[in-house]
Amino acid sequence: MRVPMIAGNWKMNTTVSEALELVKAMRAGLDEVDNVDKVICPPFISLAAVGELIKGSSIKLGAQNIYFEEMGAYTGEISPLMLAELCEFVIIGHSERRQYFNETGEIVNKKIQAALKVGLKPILCIGERLEENEAGLTAEVVTEQLRSALTGIGYLSGLVIAYEPVWAIGTGKAATGEQSNETIGLIRRNISELYDKEIAQGVRILYGGSVTAANAAEFVRQLEIDGALVGGASLKAAEFLSIVKQTSEIRGH
Ligand code: PEP
Repeated sequence: MRVPMIAGNWKMNTTVSEALELVKAMRAGLDEVDNVDKVICPPFISLAAVGELIKGSSIKLGAQNIYFEEMGAYTGEISPLMLAELCEFVIIGHSERRQYFNETGEIVNKKIQAALKVGLKPILCIGERLEENEAGLTAEVVTEQLRSALTGIGYLSGLVIAYEPVWAIGTGKAATGEQSNETIGLIRRNISELYDKEIAQGVRILYGGSVTAANAAEFVRQLEIDGALVGGASLKAAEFLSIVKQTSEIRGH
């Protein structure tokens, strides 16, 4: 019912020429898989060139961030209108943005609204920090982040959620499939309360945090988990392809 999705967050890696090389190395393999949504999110400056290269393929493109104003005197920022011409998805509220760029729940909410307004599909990231996890606050933190991000948003068309425990991002210490399945189930129940059951059943919720070819199956095998947001491993063509293929075998319809 929900099409699985594997999204690669390249973060601040690859020059334009390196981005093109990476796409060339994975394009044919990814294109062979038709029952999983494959999304790559290179840095802003590579979006146009990568977009040209994947034209006609089934690979989808996403950005890693957005500003919430449509245009104007905001030096250095990239607007929803600019991105809507180039890509289909945009990562919003990644923990690195919350941590290093002081993105609050309010800012994340404005960005989600701005993206939806121009037809971009947000990949909303939420997740607890290590100390919150250790204090048993995961459910509370994730619920608060979700509700704050979706405040005043009446429709979720195309929105994807990525549950990314902060302590698992880039650390090599992934959560377990079972733990993530439980938290993702809680996120879905929250969406059901905020909207309705049908909408909750239609929203794709991914796991993110140190997913590799070696552990991806553990996550995509879980009933609530619709795929993965992959950081480090998405920079290696063979590894990213293996994650996509395993997802296709386990979850593809
Ligand atoms: C991410 O950047 O969203 C992420 C999950 O990174 P990594 O896979 O490297 O932990």
